[in-house]
Amino acid sequence: MMESSPRIVIVGSGFAGLGAGIQLKRDGFDDFVILEKSRALGGTWHDNTYPGCACDVPSHMYSFSFELNHGWTRMFAPQQEIRAYLERTADKYGVRGHIRFGAAVDSMEYDEDAQAWKVTLAGGDVLTARAVISGVGALHIPSYPDLPGIERFQGTAFHSAEWDHSYDFRGKRVAVIGTGASAIQFVPKLAEQVDRMVVFQRTPPWIQPKPDVAIPEAVRRTFEKVPGSTRAFRDLIYWTLEARAIGFTVDPRLSAPQDRLARRHLARQIPDPGLRAKVTPDYTIGCKRVLLSNDYYPAIARPHVQVETAGIAEVREHSIVTGDGREHEVDAIVYGTGFKVVDAMAEWRVVGRNGMKIQDAWADGIEAHHGTTLPGFPNFFMMLGPNTGLGHNSVVFMIEIQIQHMLSLLRQMRRRGARTVEPRPEAVRAFNDRIQRRLRRAVWNEGGCDSWYLDENGVNRSLWPGHTFEFWAGSRKARPADYIFG
Ligand code: NAP
Repeated sequence: MMESSPRIVIVGSGFAGLGAGIQLKRDGFDDFVILEKSRALGGTWHDNTYPGCACDVPSHMYSFSFELNHGWTRMFAPQQEIRAYLERTADKYGVRGHIRFGAAVDSMEYDEDAQAWKVTLAGGDVLTARAVISGVGALHIPSYPDLPGIERFQGTAFHSAEWDHSYDFRGKRVAVIGTGASAIQFVPKLAEQVDRMVVFQRTPPWIQPKPDVAIPEAVRRTFEKVPGSTRAFRDLIYWTLEARAIGFTVDPRLSAPQDRLARRHLARQIPDPGLRAKVTPDYTIGCKRVLLSNDYYPAIARPHVQVETAGIAEVREHSIVTGDGREHEVDAIVYGTGFKVVDAMAEWRVVGRNGMKIQDAWADGIEAHHGTTLPGFPNFFMMLGPNTGLGHNSVVFMIEIQIQHMLSLLRQMRRRGARTVEPRPEAVRAFNDRIQRRLRRAVWNEGGCDSWYLDENGVNRSLWPGHTFEFWAGSRKARPADYIFG
């Protein structure tokens, strides 16, 4: 067992962990370690390697504001390019040396006497740190559906986030379960290879055209040469995305143009009225994440691809049986069934002041101050914590604001010579009451769908309810009056 005591421990080396490390360093907080459970950096952009994996937010926006990339080759860059960007950025800002790979965190416990966090790794090593920054995000534990007989299946089966690249799909009969953001990216690629495919759809997503074009070299060179041009392009994307989100952030009735765009796209791409009816959603657009794709509808319209809407009753050795008794023989099952969002937090072993488990702190619902800090958990900072997710713009923007929030607190501590900081419960209450008041009228609650945005009581604990500039204005600097410095 090894013991060490860096001043700050960061968990995760995705956009959040790397971004936090880079900004800490720039601010003179050099004594930190980034713990990464994998053997490589990148977080979700390392784990997800399924065919067709790409960003669904324009890349010029889905990147750090302090590290613009003039060279994105497409409007929506593929996974490898995003991962390469993160690798490059980690090197450029000198944070790679701070990363400890293969270091999975088992538990984090606050030691009241030492005013420090005890971070225990899966292998038994213990780190003692003054502060902990969680950059684990919400989408990293694959969710397998709880289907009767699933363990009996004799063919190949894997989740989209754990892609088996050694499996040869050519000539195979394949079942895809799920039609979310991941599935609509890999279904078209698989359809090109397989002999037959059945896509098991529980809820059809709303899909709009993806304005994905290659960015010509001449344009990339212009971005490189003309000062301010890349930032101007990014700003244009930012305001376009915010303007389009007005139906989500202000009133669902303002979503009519979005609805029309999606319906026209569907009508144009799926001429068969039977299939079109099957994949037409019956809930308000925006209630679930709106997806972008130009090749998903054409793929499911191909003769060797079938969309199955009868629920799955059972999985057998070589088949999937639907509720109406039909049996689909398959060689492989690919789960595009998303991630354990709520469980990921429920399984966290984080213990604050007085032995308080984070689950007990959240017994009445998951919430935090500005999505970042928690009463009773001193010097504990969450990136992409409660109610900081987005359906309409780049979460990298949200992460950067949370990093600023955290840094403003660390600077205050430095100035005051304080050893601890935590939010006042009444400030957290007021902040979250405001969020929840706004969410009650929003499309995610009112739109007639169920989604991972909502907890078991139907309360949205995932999304920021408004425009992202509101989060920027209200959250990038912590209000000292909201906090207790110890
Ligand atoms: P997801 O959006 O949660 O979709 C999961 C799909 O599986 C849904 O269609 C769901 O149906 C279905 N499903 C789940 N359990 C099922 C069951 N027991 N039986 C039948 N169907 C079941 O997951 P995801 O596609 O992996 O995406 C997760 C999130 O990751 C996205 O919302 C997005 O934020 C992010 N993402 C981003 C990108 C990107 O390009 N930037 C790409 C992929 C993912 P229901 O709708 O009925 O629940």
